Amino acid sequence: MNLNSKIPAGPLAEKWTKYKSTMPIVAPNNKRKLEIIVVGTGLAGAAAASSLGELGYSVKCFTFHDSPRRAHSIAAQGGINAAKNYANDGDSIYRLFYDTIKGGDYRAREANVHRLAECSVDIIDQCVAQGVPFAREYGGLLENRSFGGVQVSRTFYARGQTGQQLLIGAYQSLSRQIALGTVQMYNRHEMLELVKVDGKARGIIARNLLTGELERHAAHAVVIATGGYGNVFYLSTNAMTCNVTAAWKSVKRCSHGQSLFYTNPPNMYTGIR
Ligand SMILES: Cc1cc2nc3c(=O)[nH]c(=O)nc-3n(C[C@H](O)[C@H](O)[C@H](O)COP(=O)(O)OP(=O)(O)OC[C@H]3O[C@@H](n4cnc5c(N)ncnc54)[C@H](O)[C@@H]3O)c2cc1C
Repeated sequence: MNLNSKIPAGPLAEKWTKYKSTMPIVAPNNKRKLEIIVVGTGLAGAAAASSLGELGYSVKCFTFHDSPRRAHSIAAQGGINAAKNYANDGDSIYRLFYDTIKGGDYRAREANVHRLAECSVDIIDQCVAQGVPFAREYGGLLENRSFGGVQVSRTFYARGQTGQQLLIGAYQSLSRQIALGTVQMYNRHEMLELVKVDGKARGIIARNLLTGELERHAAHAVVIATGGYGNVFYLSTNAMTCNVTAAWKSVKRCSHGQSLFYTNPPNMYTGIR
């Protein structure tokens, strides 16, 4: 299988900034004509759906849970890292990049991790704007701590429930877009299949878990934000629903055109193949 992550060319530290400044952009009037499907409503999916909605795109967002707030992001505890260097202890984007690569046993894609380190600085401000109650010092400034074995203090947190608070923030922002009509929410819908047209992801097949009906949803682009590989591993702190089936189906669909209904494990709720 040939997996192409389409990482932009250029020196590591400039790849994404250069790409962002040179990529074609969509005129505001055309944005609402473009439909985007986002599968997943954890921190990744809820943030993507609400940001795309706020930018003016027509978004359809799917989760197999009864509410976006049930996503497993709610379990994250320790905090979120950002290279803001508030503690003035020598932190930098490069240092966060390097620590993350090392923490990932040198297996992560370097360009994407560098982008994560670059974005980390603004993400904290975005979360604060969404109302996330991060811990603060007595003077009112954002507090941070050293976490996960790193040598610097860069973890922003909300007690031991950072994921829960972040998810509530992302959910509020998603709810605002749902109320404004830019995001259409499909709770209790499980993505079963990715639909490809001319080599591009153009839709999904989903099962309505309340009625059992199969539904077709078309779009100009599909974002898969369905979480980590938790239960691929023997031991995991992830919930049993973190079963990687959506990502697996997408990878399979990308590798060959075979119908996935035949090879699927039974649907976790209905037992139907
Ligand atoms: C106990 C614990 C503690 C953690 N602590 C930290 C921490 O301190 N700091 C940190 O940075 N990270 C931490 N993590 C990791 C972090 O929480 C996750 O990496 C992150 O929340 C994943 O977010 P996500 O949006 O990608 O996925 P999730 O939050 O898992 O969301 C997945 C979404 O996809 C949907 N979905 C999945 N499959 C389908 C399908 N087939 N059809 C429709 N919808 C589907 C689900 O309904 C859900 O809405 C922790 C994780 C755990 C388990």
